[in-house]
Amino acid sequence: MYGQPALPAHFQYNNRMGFFKKLSDLFNTAPVKPIYNFSVRCNRCGEMLTGRIDLHNEPSLDDDGKGYHVRKVLIGRGEQHCFNQVTVELDFDLNHKLKSREISGGTFIEA
Ligand SMILES: [Zn+2]
Repeated sequence: MYGQPALPAHFQYNNRMGFFKKLSDLFNTAPVKPIYNFSVRCNRCGEMLTGRIDLHNEPSLDDDGKGYHVRKVLIGRGEQHCFNQVTVELDFDLNHKLKSREISGGTFIEA
């Protein structure tokens, strides 16, 4: 069994170009800053730390191709002699919308 024959190369090419065209149209009409900002509080000293994720460059595509994952480690400035690490794991869908998040060493502060 060989399933469906592969599409001719030129068809795949045109199809792909159409996809990127659509994407750029979308960004032209509704520009969105692909930056995700969040704040956390260190569980140990209570210092507030802020994280910033460049959604276009930092997250990596999931194995199943259905979303993005990014892991961020935040460390305080050490003013309180606390060098606790706060680890944040964020999952986004393909539109860079937050799906779920996890944290260790701190708690999320809602904006
Ligand atoms: Zn701390």
